[in-house]
Amino acid sequence: VIEVGDLHKSFGDLQVLKGVDLNVRRGEVVCVIGPSGSGKSTLLRCVNLLEQPSGGRIVVNGTELTDPDCDIDAARTGIGMVFQQFNLFAHLSVLENLTVAQRKVLRRDKAEAEKIARANLDRVGLSDKASAMPAQLSGGQQQRAAIARALSMNPDVMLFDEPTSALDPELVGDVLGVMRGLAEEGMTMLVVTHEMQFAREVADTVLFMDGGVVVEQGDPAQVIGAPRETRTREFLARVL
Ligand code: ATP
Ligand code: MG
Repeated sequence: VIEVGDLHKSFGDLQVLKGVDLNVRRGEVVCVIGPSGSGKSTLLRCVNLLEQPSGGRIVVNGTELTDPDCDIDAARTGIGMVFQQFNLFAHLSVLENLTVAQRKVLRRDKAEAEKIARANLDRVGLSDKASAMPAQLSGGQQQRAAIARALSMNPDVMLFDEPTSALDPELVGDVLGVMRGLAEEGMTMLVVTHEMQFAREVADTVLFMDGGVVVEQGDPAQVIGAPRETRTREFLARVL
């Protein structure tokens, strides 16, 4: 569903991505790990064109995003994104957070949007929080609401950028549990994470990035359990 070929991204003189290849098949969970500054977020942001790539090719669900004639807004509605910071609209209730894009972008009417929103709140264990304001929720609940908001758009793929790293440790498990459930339902997911346990248990493929390139990728048991590359071993020795 996601095909990235020879992706390059520079900010001025700084080359951040130096030829990244990545494939995510339908229903697959790919976890990206790697040190700070290695380009993980930039890769994810390129995949939904929050950053304009400097070179290379990105195809999501059959649409080439890097084609100059591509309708980016249309293509992006099929890509759900969840960030480290939850990015809920503070002045809207949880339910409104989940319905606003459905109504504006997908043109769903209010009743249908609310029905879908409630179903997704239920999916992330927040059925009782529909009328709450974001500030009344814990960080873990806010992040689950953000996931439900992305799911309400019926995405083909979900991108997660360190969705648990801003959370207190006791709240991390709930969010990872929701992500695990999505994976089991067959959602296609590309996840940047520092949660090695999650990567090990849930990912089909783990990709280790360093210095703007993919150093090593494969089965989690291999990449995390028995890494071939020195750089992967050094990184894992620091984080495990
Ligand atoms: P972390 O684990 O800390 O989140 P990361 O692997 O996600 O790191 P990126 O955020 O992709 O790393 O950043 C890679 C490099 O690109 C860093 O050196 C960063 O300073 C630089 N960078 C990212 N975004 C921009 C930007 N908008 N303008 C200039 N430099 C940027
Ligand atoms: Mg990052």
